[in-house]
Amino acid sequence: MLTVNAYAAPSATEPLVPITIERRDLGPKDVLIEIRYAGICHSDIHTVRGEWGEIHYPQVVGHEIVGVVAEVGSEVTLHQLGDRVGVGCMVNSCRECENCLSGDDNYCLNGNTGTYASRDKDGTVTQGGYSTHIVVVEDFVLRVPESIPYEAAAPLLCAGITTYSPLVHWNAGPGKKVAVVGMGGLGHVAVQIAHAMGAEVTVLSQTLSKQDDGLRLGADHYFATSDAATFRELRNSFDLIINTVSAVIDMDAYLKLLRLNGTFVSVGAPPEPLPVKVFSLFDNRRSFAGSGIGSIHETQEMLDFCAEHGIASEVEVIAASEINEAYERVLKSDVRYRFVIDIDTLR
Ligand code: NAP
Ligand code: ZN
Ligand code: ZN
Repeated sequence: MLTVNAYAAPSATEPLVPITIERRDLGPKDVLIEIRYAGICHSDIHTVRGEWGEIHYPQVVGHEIVGVVAEVGSEVTLHQLGDRVGVGCMVNSCRECENCLSGDDNYCLNGNTGTYASRDKDGTVTQGGYSTHIVVVEDFVLRVPESIPYEAAAPLLCAGITTYSPLVHWNAGPGKKVAVVGMGGLGHVAVQIAHAMGAEVTVLSQTLSKQDDGLRLGADHYFATSDAATFRELRNSFDLIINTVSAVIDMDAYLKLLRLNGTFVSVGAPPEPLPVKVFSLFDNRRSFAGSGIGSIHETQEMLDFCAEHGIASEVEVIAASEINEAYERVLKSDVRYRFVIDIDTLR
């Protein structure tokens, strides 16, 4: 066992605090990663605060992890000492269900093993990336392209794949009008990816305060959802809406923005239901869908796509001691555009 420094939530209501945790001894297929940076995803906050259900405490979160390979097990072939690597939202899956066999391991029918707050194969609860090291089986470790700086790459491991996957699945590309709702961690990456795919991109943000950034990142249009005129003007416009909002929104109003056969995909995961009037779907034969992260194979494809197109996250690097303050700012939508923890401040 390796004892490592980490930052953990002691309960749903207390601030995160420094702690030590154990990482398992390396199995033959395991990789030990010395973590450099870990992004703060809104899912970390939903999780530690028990908003998605009860969890065990203390819990270390963080599933946007980049670092360097520090040690490899005797049978590891995919990674070598010193490689730049990443770990996203999952660290294993059953490998034998229909979805795992088709390569859709994020949709493992037996439940993929989440990077944190998940029951691992050995019965322990997984602990995430706000820590100095992590041990992960080699085929759930991603290669981080050289051209993307570590800190800007970290958020791609969740924010990147979570938006890339539905954009690919629903064919964002030339001739398609795509709206991104919410320009936070996921949203600001979604804008870049959808633009690089060739789609016409519109940001729907609460206000126009981030308009300059949105246009610089590749959006063609930018509207404030606090302005009722936005919903009148954009009625029946979009082929695809990617919703990244962490709270409940007025679904009916957003569905009406879809043109014929358009799809509204929520990746945003508020704890409460998103209510839908079926009549808002009947008009224009609209669809309401959800999408959960992406497969390991697709995550590697996304990282390579981002490297090829010069896409990365815009980050505010913080020390581990600033995590609680950062959480409060994320809750106020006051982040440009992802907090990333410098893990050297934990050593
Ligand atoms: P984030 O950085 O906090 O961004 C969310 C954005 O939503 C905010 O920046 C804000 O954008 C907008 N927003 C927040 N509260 C709002 C409200 N009350 N009404 C309208 N808009 C609001 O969060 P994130 O890390 O991108 O994560 C977003 C959501 O996706 C979370 O629920 C997270 O758990 C979920 N998620 C899901 C998956 C998946 O696999 N499906 C993966 C990762 C994350 P503006 O300031 O532009 O309005
Ligand atoms: Zn996440
Ligand atoms: Zn499976």
